[in-house]
Amino acid sequence: MKKLIILAGATLSLLFAGCAKEEIRTLSVIPAPLNVELQQGVFLLKPGTGLYIDASDGDKTILEGCLAASSMRLKPVTTEEGHTIVLKQVEQLPEVNSSEGYVLTIDPDRVLIRATSGAGLFYGVQTMLQMADEKGLPVGTITDEPRFAYRGFMMDVSRHFFDKEFIKKQIDALAYYKLNRLHLHLTDAAGWRIEIKKYPRLAEFAAWREFSTWKEWWNNGRLYKEEGDKDAYGGYYTQEDIRELVAYAQERFITIIPEIEMPAHSEEVLTAYPEFSCTHEPYKQADFCVGNEKTFEFLENVLTEVMELFPSEYIHIGGDEAGKASWPACKLCQTRMKKENLKDVNELQSYLIHRIEVFLNAHGRKLLGWDEILEGGLAPNATVMSWRGTEGGLKAVDAGHKAIMTPGEFCYFDSYQDAPYSQPEAIGGYLPLAKVYSYNPVPDTLSADKVSLIYGVQANLFTEYIPTPEHAEMMIYPRILALSEVAWSAPVVKDYKDFYIRALKASDELKTKGYHPFDLKKEIGNRPGADQPISHLAVGKKVVYGLDAAYYPGYTAGGDTALVDGVVGGWTYGDHRWQGFIDKKGMDVTIDMEQETNIHSVGADFMQLCGPGVFMPAEVIISISNDGKEFTELKRIEHKVVKDEQLSFTHFGWEGETKARYVRYQAFSGEFGGFLFTDEIVVK
Ligand SMILES: [Zn+2]
Repeated sequence: MKKLIILAGATLSLLFAGCAKEEIRTLSVIPAPLNVELQQGVFLLKPGTGLYIDASDGDKTILEGCLAASSMRLKPVTTEEGHTIVLKQVEQLPEVNSSEGYVLTIDPDRVLIRATSGAGLFYGVQTMLQMADEKGLPVGTITDEPRFAYRGFMMDVSRHFFDKEFIKKQIDALAYYKLNRLHLHLTDAAGWRIEIKKYPRLAEFAAWREFSTWKEWWNNGRLYKEEGDKDAYGGYYTQEDIRELVAYAQERFITIIPEIEMPAHSEEVLTAYPEFSCTHEPYKQADFCVGNEKTFEFLENVLTEVMELFPSEYIHIGGDEAGKASWPACKLCQTRMKKENLKDVNELQSYLIHRIEVFLNAHGRKLLGWDEILEGGLAPNATVMSWRGTEGGLKAVDAGHKAIMTPGEFCYFDSYQDAPYSQPEAIGGYLPLAKVYSYNPVPDTLSADKVSLIYGVQANLFTEYIPTPEHAEMMIYPRILALSEVAWSAPVVKDYKDFYIRALKASDELKTKGYHPFDLKKEIGNRPGADQPISHLAVGKKVVYGLDAAYYPGYTAGGDTALVDGVVGGWTYGDHRWQGFIDKKGMDVTIDMEQETNIHSVGADFMQLCGPGVFMPAEVIISISNDGKEFTELKRIEHKVVKDEQLSFTHFGWEGETKARYVRYQAFSGEFGGFLFTDEIVVK
């Protein structure tokens, strides 16, 4: 903890004690508390240590249950006297601003946790549990409260189904690290996961598919199955399961937010009930027909059952990635657009979102959606979950809406957390623990009056490539610990080095509790060279791009200087260090070395990742010139581009002895087209 303060008295007595050298321990609590003041001495648990709780009956039951499930053996008592742990709900607690805050005071013969709510007491207890070890609890005071009110984790249970016991196990850990929202991505093409009484085919059919892995299913016809069919893969939560999960989460101060996707990502619904698509054909469409009144009847009926099950203030309606392909040719959709004066399909999507919002608001709920709900006009009371970067969230905040920040670059736990070659196949990307930790959901540029509209932050686990519970846990832990600290801890107490040590310890604890965290001790880290700038002869030199051979605007890596800035790319082109070329003219870069220079090597690395269409070059030409006009070829490399499933890196270069002022590097795509990505032209 940064704010570890050794009180003067304690230090003095230590000095006078000479060789006693009793250490003041640092705390190993995640997320890091706001203010920690430790002194000499400990509170030691004894066989008769009492537990006294002064809180509402409901909270008292929860807190007793929480402590009974812990390793602390406490005896419920009816008085605060004696060797006791006291949890006390108070009317006012001037030391903190948030109702989730608490003050934990530890004396040699008494522990006192004060808060204004059950949640605050619960979080004080989590801190106490994390602090306790065989040496007891160190004497001192911890004053703590969260930075953000919304501290979330999203689990995709559609691409692969995870049963309710798995969800409960994750709820336990989320609560232990003071997260308070669990967003369940319950519906998507790969399977509908919640029983809806009015539409039984959703559970009997839309919840089942061929193939146990998403990838096989996706690549082999994407067929659904009847429940009970031989080899049918899938599952769903019954309404009874949902009630059980909601109650389980509530007892840990976690709200479960259900997500029902609309208007897109709904292939499974529109195969079970094709009448809600534009063409009424199964297996044809991902988007609901927005022109059809029956679509709204269906969605409202589903949401009515969902609202009965989930008390959450927010209902998430997805809203992302609609293809809108069937709408322009659909009579009903076109009629709707005319009637409602909608000028394009974005506004048609927005019409659906607005209308669903009115419905949710009328039932006392609020609409939450991915940032695409901004397109075509944001519904008046909606909250935006910003996933395609942070722009969506900031735009929403600018318009006076709340936003939850969950940008892919920092919050998508389906990305690789270590060197891809050392990990099971993932969807791509590279999001190590340190990068999650580095995220600040409130940009420095945000004006003070808007800051409070940043409601919080969330990590998302989409599970296309995550078929098993063990694998899912490996992707969640320890990264969710970093997210918890991003969400809870004040920036002033954050320190990655200190956190890393605590994360190692927490990982061990998670293991003993039966979780499967990624082994942080074996972390390989970023691509060699990516951590420190490199030096070579071309760094800082002027670069000219050939006509029609400009880099792609979405992947500039910083612009014209990117290929000679000494910055080496990491494991993903998403790190803003890889320059992308997609034009047929390929890449054509000339570096002006400013004067005739002795050159021994020229080379560049390229990346291949076939899934998103990133390929090695089929041809590379390296040449030199003294006037910048007439070039002499040093080397021409022909390369056979072979499709594969791995992320790979290949160096294309020349070595020898020459002298020149200008160095030209050209690279061209092969038969598959797609992107070329390179990070640095190294001249030595
Ligand atoms: Zn339609």
